[in-house]
This record gives sequence, C-alpha cells and structure tokens, in this order.
Amino acid sequence: MDDFMSKALEIAKAQASVRVMSAEEILNYAKSLASGLQNVTEPVPADAQAFHGDPKKSIRESSVTCLVCGAKVKVLTSRHLEKHGLTPDAYRVKFGLKKGTPLSCKSRVKECQERMQKMRLWERKKKAS
Ligand SMILES: [Zn+2]
Repeated sequence: MDDFMSKALEIAKAQASVRVMSAEEILNYAKSLASGLQNVTEPVPADAQAFHGDPKKSIRESSVTCLVCGAKVKVLTSRHLEKHGLTPDAYRVKFGLKKGTPLSCKSRVKECQERMQKMRLWERKKKAS
C-alpha cells in the first residue's frame, strides 16, 4: 500500500510541476492514482501455468500473460518482471518481442493514448485563455 502511495505521489508531484495544483488536489490525485495502481497489480495465482505459444499472443485485448510465470495481469510491470530477474527490455529480448512493445493489455494502451490526447487538449485550452 505504501509503495503504491509513494509511487502515486511521485506521479502527482510531476503533475504539479507542469500545472498549478493545490495541496488538496495533489493529495486527491495521488489517492486516485494509488488505487488505480493497486488495481493493475493482481496477485500471481499459485496455479498459474507458464504461457506456451506465440509470445505476441500473450498480449491480448484485456490481459497480458507473463511469459515467465503465466500470471494474467492488465499491465506487466517492471516490478513484476523484477521478481523474475528481468527488466522490461530484457523480457522483450528473451521472448522475441519487438523493442518498444507495450507490456500492457491493448485496451489499456488505448485508454492511455486517449487520456494523453485529452490532456493535450486541456493544455492547449489553458494556453488560449
Ligand atoms: Zn511473471
């Protein structure tokens, strides 16, 4: 929990440096981020089977299968890969995934892209006023 919160605070701090936020805003932002981060990290099921087949197919619309332990997650975090002694880059190399392949389910990648676009629009609006 503390891990999520400190990570969330880091992100919130970065946000606060690009736009004016009150302390309360930062805290609320960090809180919602922390719960979001918690949601993406699911416990590894004990009976998880290693994924066999095309590594590219391990990245699906709503989940990603860890090719090392077979855990189904929404995002394959670097923290998860650390448990296997890998970094995201080493993981891609090991399983022959293209450099830069997002290690998160496709729907989340789309979600992030949409959110970034909205943020950019918001920034533009702010500058115009
Ligand atoms: Zn794993």
